[in-house]
Amino acid sequence: MSRLSVHQVPVLNDNYVYLAHCPETGATAIVDPAVVDPVLTAADKLGWTITHILNTHHHGDHTGGNLEIKAKTGCTIVGPKADRDRIPGIDVEVGEGDTYKLGNAAARVFDVPGHTRGHIAYWFSGSDALFCGDTLFAMGCGRLFEGTPAQMVTSLAKFKSLPPETRVFCAHEYTQSNGRFALTVEPDNKDLVQRMADVNAARAKNIPTVPSTIAIELKTNPFLRADSPGLQKAVGMPGGDYVAVFAETRARKDRF
Ligand SMILES: [Zn+2]
Repeated sequence: MSRLSVHQVPVLNDNYVYLAHCPETGATAIVDPAVVDPVLTAADKLGWTITHILNTHHHGDHTGGNLEIKAKTGCTIVGPKADRDRIPGIDVEVGEGDTYKLGNAAARVFDVPGHTRGHIAYWFSGSDALFCGDTLFAMGCGRLFEGTPAQMVTSLAKFKSLPPETRVFCAHEYTQSNGRFALTVEPDNKDLVQRMADVNAARAKNIPTVPSTIAIELKTNPFLRADSPGLQKAVGMPGGDYVAVFAETRARKDRF
């Protein structure tokens, strides 16, 4: 089992595209190519030849580079079975429980509807790497454009049980604004207060705050913590049902 090398490419306002490279075979995937040129340039500089695109969902800032990159490299495009009609150039359709091999590194695929109805995530267990698109963010989660709070809770629960050291390669640098919101619902969470101090220091120097880890998200991400008594109290629902508390927290974030 090969351990992937992962390279982060910041593009557009706040997107992260990832290059995931199997050092044993040379297989290299672009995860969610929002754009073309900066990503191919980064791969060139690393000496990595693009063999795959892995899409998490259909939004344009995740698939915008698909067709041009496929035309230029002949790569194989892997994406969600449930959204096959919305993924440009899709070759391989995957869904819950599937294993997809990138060179000698294997990804387990999760269906994680909520942000979109066909959203998937790729977990490379041997690389401690989760590519979760717009489902989980550092201290946040994706907006519910096409799913219900109950669906998103079920999706996020799949991530909560991953090994704590798993790195969370989410697709946007939203951490600072997410953290500002998180502090409004968990002002007494010491881990959160400390994390925000670290995040503010990093952002002041334009340093990425992504990837995060499952361990730190469990301690500081309000969307994984609807069972926290402090959070329940802050949203006026002490002892509240998990999905209801999550829904209220998400609604407050939408208005934040
Ligand atoms: Zn999206």
